[in-house]
Amino acid sequence: MTEQFRCPSCQAPYAVVRVETDEKEQLGQVNCTECSFPFSAYENGSILKYFKTASSNVRALRK
Ligand SMILES: [Zn+2]
Repeated sequence: MTEQFRCPSCQAPYAVVRVETDEKEQLGQVNCTECSFPFSAYENGSILKYFKTASSNVRALRK
C-alpha cells in the first residue's frame, strides 16, 4: 500500500510505503532529496519509506 506525499517545503512528489515494525527505537531521520526538509520516518508502529516519484513539476511540463 502506498500513499502520495508531497514535501511541504518544495512540493517534491513522493510515494510513501508503510512497513510495520516492532522496533521502538528511534530510527534514522529521512530528508527530502530536493531541499533536505525532514520527514518523519516512523509513525504508529510503522516505518515510513519515501520514494521520489516521477517529476511532474510545472517547470518540466513547460519545456
Ligand atoms: Zn523538499
